[in-house]
Amino acid sequence: MTKRLGIGLIAHDRKKPDLAAWVTRNIEVLSTHRLVATATTGSVLKQSHPDVAVEVVKSGPLGGDQQIGAMIAEGKLDVLIFFPDPLAAMPHDVDVKALLRLVLVYDIPAAFSSKTADALVTSGLFGEAREPSPSGRPSA
Ligand code: PGA
Repeated sequence: MTKRLGIGLIAHDRKKPDLAAWVTRNIEVLSTHRLVATATTGSVLKQSHPDVAVEVVKSGPLGGDQQIGAMIAEGKLDVLIFFPDPLAAMPHDVDVKALLRLVLVYDIPAAFSSKTADALVTSGLFGEAREPSPSGRPSA
C-alpha cells in the first residue's frame, strides 16, 4: 500500500488552468493523499473538485510559498507540484526562489509543468491509479 503523501500544489495565475486540468486528470490517485495548496490555487481546485479535501495556506505573494517551504523543512510535505509562469515577473520572486531552494535542500520530488508532473504519476510515486472504465468513470 502506498504511503499517504503530503503534496503541495501551487500555480501562478496563468498556469492555474494547467494545474487544474492536471489535477482533474489525476484526481483519483491524488485524492488518496493530503493536498495542500496556496490560497488562490486551492480555491480554483476546490471549484473543480468540491468533494476533495484541499488544505490551504496563504496566497503565494502573502507568504503562502514560505508556508509551503516551511512544511517541506518540517517534513510535512513530501512532493511539490508547482507550475510557475516563466513569462511573468512576480513580486514574490524571492519567496519562489527560497521555496525552490528548500525543494533541493530536502531533495523532495518536484514537478514544474504538466509533463514533468505526469512523469511523477507514471513513476508510481503516488500509487497506482485504477484504469478509467470505457464510460470515463473510474471503475469500482
Ligand atoms: P496563489 O499563490 O495560489 O495564492 O495564487 C501562488 C503563487 O503566486 O505563488
